[in-house]
Amino acid sequence: MQLYKELNILEDKKLYNKINLFSLVILVITTVAVLLPHLIILKELNFSFSISSYFWVLGIFLIFLPIHEFIHGIFFKAFSKSGKKIKYGFSKGMLYASNPGEFYTKWQFVIIILAPFLLNSILFFLLSMFGLDSTVLWIVFILHTTGCAGDFWYIYEMIKNPAITHCEDTPVGVKFFVS
Ligand SMILES: [Zn+2]
Repeated sequence: MQLYKELNILEDKKLYNKINLFSLVILVITTVAVLLPHLIILKELNFSFSISSYFWVLGIFLIFLPIHEFIHGIFFKAFSKSGKKIKYGFSKGMLYASNPGEFYTKWQFVIIILAPFLLNSILFFLLSMFGLDSTVLWIVFILHTTGCAGDFWYIYEMIKNPAITHCEDTPVGVKFFVS
């Protein structure tokens, strides 16, 4: 197996800025994707938002950050051959789950990366079914999706470089390999 490309999000300023810009694009796209169907189906936007909604948004969002990392961790563990303990931590203002030293196939890595976005989005939907304020949950959905920018960037790299066959999570980003 040969190293193909390494991403160092923490130290590569250019990449860091690119991903930040990318997250703004995702913010706009997700907001439009939420608002447009509302406008088309309901012909108006009747979101109810009060001061307490702010706290609900903040509270639910903060609860779902560790859940997001925990879901990454579950899948890191599920596909792990070594059975090593998954590392959880907090670095540069970000929570993380990590399993450095372990190699995953591209498809395992795609699942590890996308699982939190998919599962949490389903959870937001279920919470709204169970009566939680849907405006609050739509905003949390938009924020959470925006927060997945780094995850989506990995997927973008794998699509752009189809030669990649294996991936290793590192403390600062990811290493891509070709076999
Ligand atoms: Zn993530």
